[in-house]
Amino acid sequence: MYRIGTGYDLHLLETGRRLVLGGVDIPFEKGLAGHSDADVLLHAVTDALLGAVSLGNIGALFPDTDPAFKDADSADLLREAYARVGDAGYAVVNVDATIIMEQPKLNPYIEEIQESIAGLLYIEDSDVSLKPKTNEGVGPEGQGEAISCHAVVLVGRLDRHAGT
Ligand code: MG
Repeated sequence: MYRIGTGYDLHLLETGRRLVLGGVDIPFEKGLAGHSDADVLLHAVTDALLGAVSLGNIGALFPDTDPAFKDADSADLLREAYARVGDAGYAVVNVDATIIMEQPKLNPYIEEIQESIAGLLYIEDSDVSLKPKTNEGVGPEGQGEAISCHAVVLVGRLDRHAGT
């Protein structure tokens, strides 16, 4: 039995912050603003993962009012969310994400980001798809004010994966 979830997130770009996407540091003059490391891609993937098993959302699990999550590594949040999904009896099959950003160009980093996300979810690199898009110069993403991300995650029952 399979279940599917979607996730969406947006963070504003500002100077003096790291740009972390999919757990990978990307050299750029600006980074994403947020309580955690503001990894918009991992946040969208985490929400899609939680959504697939109806386990709520990242904001409810890891409130940005909680000092424990200040400057949190979003990879840790994804691992924790995946532990709950595993407890519910499901494992990730594949991930497909679209990231909307004008700058910097992400193509040189796609493989590294795929490897990073695949490692966090114990799947093959080829089971992680990441598609960068510009926004044709319009809207906050197109104007370079923000980066947003849409993600879809498919999960399957662990007993199916074990072949029992
Ligand atoms: Mg977020």
